[in-house]
Amino acid sequence: MILRAKAHAKVNLHLEVLHRREDGYHEVETILQSVGLHDTLHLRRLRSGIKVRCDHPGVPLDRTNLCWRAARALRAHTGVRKGVQIDIHKRIPVAAGLGGGSADAAACLLALPRLWDVQVEPEELHALAARLGADVPFFLRGGTQLARGVGEVLTPLSASGGGWYLIITPRIELSTAWVYEHLRMGLTHAPPKVNLANYKSLLARFPERPWPGFNRLGDVVLPAFPALHRLLLQLQDSGARLAMLSGSGPSLFAVYLALEETEKAKESVDVGEAFTWIGRSTNFGVEIDCERERSPDPGDQ
Ligand code: ATP
Repeated sequence: MILRAKAHAKVNLHLEVLHRREDGYHEVETILQSVGLHDTLHLRRLRSGIKVRCDHPGVPLDRTNLCWRAARALRAHTGVRKGVQIDIHKRIPVAAGLGGGSADAAACLLALPRLWDVQVEPEELHALAARLGADVPFFLRGGTQLARGVGEVLTPLSASGGGWYLIITPRIELSTAWVYEHLRMGLTHAPPKVNLANYKSLLARFPERPWPGFNRLGDVVLPAFPALHRLLLQLQDSGARLAMLSGSGPSLFAVYLALEETEKAKESVDVGEAFTWIGRSTNFGVEIDCERERSPDPGDQ
């Protein structure tokens, strides 16, 4: 059996950093939105071992790969002895603020119990996901969710009103750790600011009506990369209902009411060598189907 999983990227419709905890992690308040952009994973059962292949040179294939770690965590948790071959067709830009690695990990956590024929309860999956990375629990369900804590305390929100998304990922290298290190936090702990009732009604009317979300990490990233800042200003000027940095960047996204407008905006801004994608939001984090039965490869079971 081969399972195919689509692992969807996310953008942050809002991201506030509340304070730095004693363990060094930052408490955040963020609204995450799944989008149609996705990696495609194929998972095939092996007699033993966890093997990862990927068509993107920037993705590690060893034990640091989040899919490998997800498979190992599930094996340890369930006691299953079977193996898996995981093939990742990478379309989500790597280290770009779109959560690609976390999405792949969530896809493995959801697909592997089916492949290995073992039952894992949703709360157990959530706990395993949170150990792999702060964003991973979000991707188990996806859609539109408010995340608090370091990202693992989730409140599902009803879907936003739609619109067309333009994602632009310039070729800029920056790490999430660097961005948080350079964030100037106030001395006092800021209280959570998202008024859920208010945000829910604003989200339902977005993008027809304005949306007040912002990304605090832009305070670090935009002054450090003036070309990225200029691109964001161009997007904000291109008729977008919202244009923001996603996560710790360098991806930018903009939301428009109509497809034609989105395409026109993409042509009008100077994207240079950047990766670009146009599509819609989605209510799924991961979509899994059984692709086809094939005669077994050597080592297959
Ligand atoms: P986030 O928005 O959660 O900060 P990101 O978009 O910045 O995520 P990822 O694409 O998830 O970043 O990759 C971060 C790092 O994780 C990469 O530099 C890569 O070395 C490592 N990594 C491990 N497994 C994967 C994977 N399956 N796909 C992509 N990157 C992976």
